[in-house]
Amino acid sequence: MTVLAFVLTMVLVLWACVLLAFAGPLAARWREPVLRQPVLIIESDDWGAGPLAQAVALSRLAALLQRVRDCSGRPAVMTLGVVLEVPDGKRIAATGYTSYHALSLADARFATVRAAMQDGIQAGVFVPQLHGQCHYWPPALQATLQTNNRVRDWLTASEPTTTEDLPSPLQTRWVDASSLPSRALAPDAIQQAATAEAASYQSFFGSAPQVAVATTFIWNDTVEAAWAQAGVGVIITPGRRSTCRNAAGQPSCVDATMLTGERSLAGQIYLVRDVYFEPALGHVPQRLVDGLIARSRQGRACLVETHRFNFLQARDASLAALEAGLNAALATCPNVRFFSPLELARTIQTRDPAWVEVRLIPRLAVWRTRLDEIPRFRRVAQLSGLALPLAWLERPA
Ligand SMILES: [Zn+2]
Repeated sequence: MTVLAFVLTMVLVLWACVLLAFAGPLAARWREPVLRQPVLIIESDDWGAGPLAQAVALSRLAALLQRVRDCSGRPAVMTLGVVLEVPDGKRIAATGYTSYHALSLADARFATVRAAMQDGIQAGVFVPQLHGQCHYWPPALQATLQTNNRVRDWLTASEPTTTEDLPSPLQTRWVDASSLPSRALAPDAIQQAATAEAASYQSFFGSAPQVAVATTFIWNDTVEAAWAQAGVGVIITPGRRSTCRNAAGQPSCVDATMLTGERSLAGQIYLVRDVYFEPALGHVPQRLVDGLIARSRQGRACLVETHRFNFLQARDASLAALEAGLNAALATCPNVRFFSPLELARTIQTRDPAWVEVRLIPRLAVWRTRLDEIPRFRRVAQLSGLALPLAWLERPA
């Protein structure tokens, strides 16, 4: 064997070792479906039971979304992560703070909010999905009430409250964060609450929830199993699952990471939402465009997260930023299409060839763009020289 052949063999062995060492994440990104054209989904959480000012904000949003159309003529779609109750402050105060009472979205005082949601749904611009019966775990609030005046005032307010004003750990529904680190809830309690919230959602919208997004992105296998039994087939994730709040109150105990199209233990399809567009926090319209371009290069749908608070705290500026972002996205990617999460999940599930790439060369090129996100892989690929053949994959065909 010549020296050259020996060196080449050693390099190939080294590359094989690198590929083997990262086989799991590399294979996962190969299995992840590749979309053939840009897809944009605007996701907005926290709507429903709460301040009555939502009605105007929702009407303005619906009008805005109808003005923006993709190349098929479809208006922009925004999901509404729906919350179905807030505390009934007057009743809680009247009972001496000894028991929790809820004010349901079905209550007469929310008529204008309900009407604005339904109008947008009928116009095809709003798509509801389950965020939670409430944006907290009621027993955790009750436990905190005795020691925390801020929570006590919030819980007993005479007007429907904004859950955004609660301390962040208490906004989590599926753990008891009354003290930190949070404690897990009993599986039976989760099962019962998830079943009840799905029934509540069904009584309000006329059909069981098919898509769910956990409040503050903290949930676990028990929640997923209960949701699955209730009809939820799609779970929105940030790409990882936190299952607790740590001592500092931060989401923690990550027990799973996921890519779009992967399945939960209970069989649901995960979607990844990881572009954050909160105009009230200073995010500019270009951020939405940049997110769409980056996800499209990766053959992924762009799921944009924008919360209700933007449209309550800085309504006009946030509406203007969203419209500018959507129009800029259309100008930059004229073939972008507006989808709902359920439509995306079905497209992926059926591997619809009109939307999902099956040709080897384009799939390899997209796969390459996904590899830099794997921790340490980029560095190892550069050091070993594997980056050179991988870069070749990205060459235009
Ligand atoms: Zn939320």
